[in-house]
Amino acid sequence: MSAPSTAQTLLREDLRSFGGYSSARTSAKAQAAHVWLNANEAALPNPSDADDTLRRYPQPQPPELRQALAALYGVAPAQLLAGRGSDEGIDLLVRTFCTPGNGAIVIAPPVFGMYAVSARLHGVKVAEVPAQDGEQGFRCDLLGMAAAARDSGASLVFVCSPGNPTGEAVELEAIATLAEGLRGEALVVVDEAYAEFSSNASAVSLLEAHENIVVLRTLSKAHALAAARIGSVIASSEIISLLQRCQAPYPLPQPCVAAGLAALSAEALKATDTRVAESIRARDALIKQLPSIAGVRQVYPSQGNFVLLRFADAQAAFERLLDAGIMVRDMRAAPQLHDALRISIGTSEEMQRVLRALGEPQ
Ligand SMILES: *Cc1c(COP(=O)(O)O)cnc(C)c1O
Repeated sequence: MSAPSTAQTLLREDLRSFGGYSSARTSAKAQAAHVWLNANEAALPNPSDADDTLRRYPQPQPPELRQALAALYGVAPAQLLAGRGSDEGIDLLVRTFCTPGNGAIVIAPPVFGMYAVSARLHGVKVAEVPAQDGEQGFRCDLLGMAAAARDSGASLVFVCSPGNPTGEAVELEAIATLAEGLRGEALVVVDEAYAEFSSNASAVSLLEAHENIVVLRTLSKAHALAAARIGSVIASSEIISLLQRCQAPYPLPQPCVAAGLAALSAEALKATDTRVAESIRARDALIKQLPSIAGVRQVYPSQGNFVLLRFADAQAAFERLLDAGIMVRDMRAAPQLHDALRISIGTSEEMQRVLRALGEPQ
């Protein structure tokens, strides 16, 4: 017999026989019925819902959407769980694989805040292995993260690539090595919220050889659908079904499903490619122009749709931007970033306004 999977080893002891909420929607036989009197739904639609698309509870994993997302990311539908943004994916991973009170996760600050938020809300320790700031910008210390996972008994190691806010894209080989080293001990979660803006390939290509890798993708950034809240967890079908048991029964509101499906039409995807290419051009142009502005101390390379930079006086720069009506992300409370701001890539006209505001004499 083969060894148990990493996910099977890490699944919370107290959830081993937990099946989750069972709704009529999840059973196969329900699909055959044509008079639906099982869920206390209304008999007739709301007048505001002329097409009668909102009266009934939605499918837990709408097959068309799941199929379209799986095709987009190049996996089988059973390897993908759609949810309310990748934020829900992060939360599900923590709740499924970390035991409240003695579980742990590993992160590499400065990094996206939701990993630590989910862990803390769930009563789980956060082991921090600072990313190292060097010649090439920030780099995750993957060896340090593996060691911290073992020391803390962490079941999840979060690698944000491209990193928010660092902009670092972690090499796939390094992720594969990390996963190999932690097989049977921890899941490596690669958060690819900004993958579309990166020249690196997706870690989805590593899934076949590494059963302990999980990839997070989202329609919030490149696909311009942040308000629809559609994110995907991509992993082995075993991990996906364990996560689904812990997910809310009807996570995806019908209007969001419709918006997501529309955004995945061939035509919409083509427009997305064009917008992404424009963002990349605007980002690279901004990165070229920023260093010549007085008071800009360092501009980090970026594989995302944002730029991280350090200022001689970050407060003054933040205020000058605000005076020009421009809101950027103040990073000064984040570890190692006491003098830094993060600027999202908008239209090239917006980027010109940023440069003008920063370049104005003090
Ligand atoms: C924006 C962002 C997300 C959140 O994505 P949603 O799908 O909108 O929840 C996840 N991870 C990182 C690193 C992000 O920057």
